[in-house]
Amino acid sequence: MTEEKEVKNDLIVSINYTLKVDNEVIASSIEDEEPLEFLQGHGNIIIGLEREILGMKIGEKKDVIVSPVDGYGEIDEEAYIEIPSNQFPENIPVEVGIELEIQDEDGNPAYARIEEIENNIVLLNLNDPLAGKELHFSVEVLELREASEEELDHGHAHQEGHSH
Ligand code: ZN
Repeated sequence: MTEEKEVKNDLIVSINYTLKVDNEVIASSIEDEEPLEFLQGHGNIIIGLEREILGMKIGEKKDVIVSPVDGYGEIDEEAYIEIPSNQFPENIPVEVGIELEIQDEDGNPAYARIEEIENNIVLLNLNDPLAGKELHFSVEVLELREASEEELDHGHAHQEGHSH
């Protein structure tokens, strides 16, 4: 009796995927010619995708639609800050659409995008660019393998021949 191999928690899963948002390709492991490898069941990938991959078999393909709440989150109306434009470092152009890295209250790097400039006040949007978006994935399971003890310990996949 042969056991059909399928995606289970604690297995290392290798997939090809394409991510489309608003009918535009945002990311594709096929274009990058580098399949995505991750440890199933440890939140290494978007939760709404991980859930749908569970139980898939090698060679199986699937289209998965992930709602914002299971993706990059809903748009947070509180995640905006206003800064006078004369407080901007001179090397950063003050233009709508400019993306920058700022420090949050805890000193951690955070993403921000200039949303609006009015009366010399710059409105920064701290939401992830994919917040509030429906994610359209096409996935194919390429390979499955057992995770090493170290990988399970770290909670993520290691590249072949590489550990840290
Ligand atoms: Zn590690």
